[in-house]
Amino acid sequence: MPNLQRLRERAFVAQQGRCCYCGRAMWLQSPSELDLQPPRTMSRQCTAEHLIARHEGGRSTRENIAAACWLCNQRRHRRRRPLSPDAFRELVAERIAKGRWC
Ligand SMILES: [Zn+2]
Repeated sequence: MPNLQRLRERAFVAQQGRCCYCGRAMWLQSPSELDLQPPRTMSRQCTAEHLIARHEGGRSTRENIAAACWLCNQRRHRRRRPLSPDAFRELVAERIAKGRWC
């Protein structure tokens, strides 16, 4: 099993299957693990999140990999200047409170 996949699964288990940013349940092998309706099916897939991004020198190590849903992972790294993990978690919490994080 590739290292990154192993780290993702380890983080998934350690986080009880919850995204490190939005706290929502994710699926690991198949969307059928959760009762989801499209378009949420894709967005709740568990991904390996590099807390320090790869292009900033972050490596695929246990310390630098967390489990994040696809949506949070995409949105964090799509930003021109990605927020720190803590700042991004706060942003996601604010958006969820306003009903603006699907
Ligand atoms: Zn998430």
